[in-house]
Amino acid sequence: MDFDYSPKVLEAKAKLEAFMDEQVYPAEREHHDFVMDQNNLWKQPPIVEELKVKARASGIWNWFLPAEYGEFSPGFTNLEFAPLAEVMGRLPWSFEVFNCSAPDRGNMEVLAKFGSKEQQDQWLRPLLEGRIRSTYAMTEPQVASSDATNMQLTIVRDGDEYVLNGRKWWSSNIMHPHNEVLVTMGVTNPDAPRHQRHSMVLVPRDSPGLEVVRAVEVFGNYHSPAGHGELAFHDVRVPVDNIILGEGQGFTIAQGRLGPGRFQYAMTNVGMAQRMLELMCARAEQREAFGRKMSEQSSVRQDIARARCQIEQARLLVFKAAAEMDKSGAKGARDYISMVKIVGPKLAHDVAERAMQIFGGKGVSGDTPIADMYVLGRLMRIADGPDEVHMNQLAKLTMAQAEIERLAGRGGIDWYGD
Ligand SMILES: Cc1cc2nc3c(=O)[nH]c(=O)nc-3n(C[C@H](O)[C@H](O)[C@H](O)COP(=O)(O)OP(=O)(O)OC[C@H]3O[C@@H](n4cnc5c(N)ncnc54)[C@H](O)[C@@H]3O)c2cc1C
Repeated sequence: MDFDYSPKVLEAKAKLEAFMDEQVYPAEREHHDFVMDQNNLWKQPPIVEELKVKARASGIWNWFLPAEYGEFSPGFTNLEFAPLAEVMGRLPWSFEVFNCSAPDRGNMEVLAKFGSKEQQDQWLRPLLEGRIRSTYAMTEPQVASSDATNMQLTIVRDGDEYVLNGRKWWSSNIMHPHNEVLVTMGVTNPDAPRHQRHSMVLVPRDSPGLEVVRAVEVFGNYHSPAGHGELAFHDVRVPVDNIILGEGQGFTIAQGRLGPGRFQYAMTNVGMAQRMLELMCARAEQREAFGRKMSEQSSVRQDIARARCQIEQARLLVFKAAAEMDKSGAKGARDYISMVKIVGPKLAHDVAERAMQIFGGKGVSGDTPIADMYVLGRLMRIADGPDEVHMNQLAKLTMAQAEIERLAGRGGIDWYGD
């Protein structure tokens, strides 16, 4: 067991940190002011485009796509990318600067893994170049979407076309001015077994009949320029060649999509939490109340110590999940992926709670990144699949493993019940 970063990772991390220090953190206020100004609603902050050009020229580009994706990948393993994702997670919009942002990264994985040559040329290549953005449209307002087998949007073949009818919501990125395509999940084979009814098709953003009903607010914020849309599909027609992998393959694709992307979310949470911890420490040293520095109050020290423990635990767990994915793929690493999905968002949420309290009024204002990180941590406990769903999955896998041990007579797991 080796806990040190390899020379390759150390070099990449130093390069990324230098870029963050010299280019990205100095732009943080400008970015915040731009996206909060209602006159700029749904406009891309020019600073992001400037930084993208510089990041690409520096070679810090598409690092999220694991080495197994061959020609499309810059060559990092999941384990190598994990500490780099933490650096980006310290300022979550920086993922876009390095062309590693959600939901594009999941969609790029899908197209790299399952897309036809034509689909890759038309959509994957411009996505990898950062010229266009995309949406993943799965969730529907009328059904419990944490169970994806509930999706109802219909995709019906008519000659050389598929016709889509139905509703979606929480379609992130739909308002982005560079958005050109939606990976859309719906029912093609209603009579097939439950996990073979759904398919994914590529729907151009400007398709006739695709209506953006409204942009959905998150804690009173539209998350401009990306936005989260409620959509209505009225007889939207796409060529049959726009289906990914084939009819009934929606769940095969969804499994592939939700692997690497999930541990990368967890690492975003570690990055946010680490930055908030550093902010907490600096603030506690700087402020005095009732005759002593905040950092001398034992409750503040406990908050700092607890945050440090939680962050280190989560960081090591994500590294383990990433290593398991490299070794056994997303399927073999299922239990670790569930663990990081449970632990990651809760970590950011908990550390943000403490950091806000230590900062007092400033902690809930827009003058630090803490309030935004609190919201992000909270929403990821739902947006990346609700906590309870991951816990169900993990408990099932854990009980199955315990049963194997018990049946094999190992580990002293006798049955002590009645
Ligand atoms: C900011 C944001 C961005 C999003 N972006 C996207 C996107 O880009 N594309 C997309 O398709 N979707 C997106 N989503 C939607 C997200 O994936 C869903 O909200 C999520 O899967 C839950 O589905 P639901 O809202 O229908 O909740 P429901 O399925 O109705 O679940 C509600 C609650 O029921 C409980 N519950 C559910 N299942 C269980 C269980 N098995 N055991 C115990 N309790 C359970 C949980 O407490 C859960 O929170 C986004 C959501 C948010 C908030």
